[in-house]
Amino acid sequence: MTDFFDLDLSIFGESLSRGSGILDLMNDLGEAVSFRRDMLMLGGGNPAIIPEIQALWRESAKAFLADQTAFDKSLASYDPPQGDPSFLNAFAKMFCDRFDISINSNNIAVVSGAQLGAFCLLNLLGGKTSDGRRKKILIPASPEYVGYADMGVEPDMFVACPAKITYPDPNDSSTFKYAVDFDMVEQVVAKEDVGAILISRPTNPSGNVLTRDELTRLEEFAERIGAWFIIDNAYGGPFPGILEDPAEIDSIFWGKKTILSFSLSKIGLPGLRTGILVAPPEIIERVSAITAIVGLANNSIGQRITKPLFESGEILDACRSIVYPYYRKRRAEAVRLLRDSLRRAGVEAKLHKSEGAFFLWMWIPALKAGSTTLYQKLKEQRVFVIPGDNFFYGLDHVSESKMDPTFDSSRSQMLRISFSAPEDIVDKGFRIIAETIAKLLDSTKDNINKIGNV
Ligand code: PLP
Repeated sequence: MTDFFDLDLSIFGESLSRGSGILDLMNDLGEAVSFRRDMLMLGGGNPAIIPEIQALWRESAKAFLADQTAFDKSLASYDPPQGDPSFLNAFAKMFCDRFDISINSNNIAVVSGAQLGAFCLLNLLGGKTSDGRRKKILIPASPEYVGYADMGVEPDMFVACPAKITYPDPNDSSTFKYAVDFDMVEQVVAKEDVGAILISRPTNPSGNVLTRDELTRLEEFAERIGAWFIIDNAYGGPFPGILEDPAEIDSIFWGKKTILSFSLSKIGLPGLRTGILVAPPEIIERVSAITAIVGLANNSIGQRITKPLFESGEILDACRSIVYPYYRKRRAEAVRLLRDSLRRAGVEAKLHKSEGAFFLWMWIPALKAGSTTLYQKLKEQRVFVIPGDNFFYGLDHVSESKMDPTFDSSRSQMLRISFSAPEDIVDKGFRIIAETIAKLLDSTKDNINKIGNV
């Protein structure tokens, strides 16, 4: 990338354009999809292509194309920045009918993807205030979605708390689960001016689903300190429903300070760049005001294609009956295949309990060379994965004495591996991953830690 000094950029320009983990990830993804058909793409956030779901979109798109007036109007006019009023109404009604949550269209804003929605929210609620305070975004259980890491227009916007590493089954040390360390959260909120608490649920990268109890406690924290509680639901319920626990699909967490973010991407529509925020009207107004400045309006096609399905509720039924079982099966297969490949290659690794999303979060405790080196080796073998380091941001404030050494060393020993690609690609990719790790551990003389069983 051109040296920014040559361009004489602003701080804003430099901070957003100097390069980031998410830029590398999206470039890798684009390259693999467009030019490198031989690559095994287990890295990006593309959803699986589920034939029944794609058929649903094609049907809906056909009806939209056939309705000449609606089609012409959609393409030839801008929506209001908040979104198409009829879509906002349909979405709000779906919420009230299905979840007994009393909201209306004033609580909904469409955004050009949940990514842009998060950018608006984080910079509304974090950063320098007019009276000189620096409001922070608190990540209560690091690691968290790499896509947030460089969103702050202000530097150092995030304060993260290392997640507690727990073992749900005391007899199985190969499956771990992250939990919120509430003592640490307490210490951070006592020290910092927190504007919002932010989680993705299910969490990208780990597939963790924070418990209801954790959500309630985080909402209580937010209410107590006058902050907002943002739940990014890109993989959650009621849509797309990429979850393990069926009870999660039909329940929504909603509190006085909650902001919910949804996306159409993971139900097969990432190309339509449509996200939806549900929040109190004062937040919705501000987000819509930003939309007007940065983009005038949102892409209307996603709203048009999905609106009839929100009106009828069909979208939720399809997520429950098609998307949910599809990924549940793929998840079980992926865990089995990866464990088998690791066992055959003689590599010891731990997997985060896969409770949602379509990633496996793998921890290789014997990896001394670092996950970025492993990522490079895998790229040479034409397998794309995501090295874990980039997901651990906002932790500089944690002193050495407060940092759990196991968590600390794990930061460079993680890989995020997607299982949304077709089965044959996933299977082949997993075998190459296990063999490449085995070779790397051998070459770095770490093989003392290798064992025959995972
Ligand atoms: N939030 C999370 C947790 C994600 O993983 C992603 C994409 O991978 C997004 C938001 C972005 O979603 P969208 O495509 O709607 O911008």
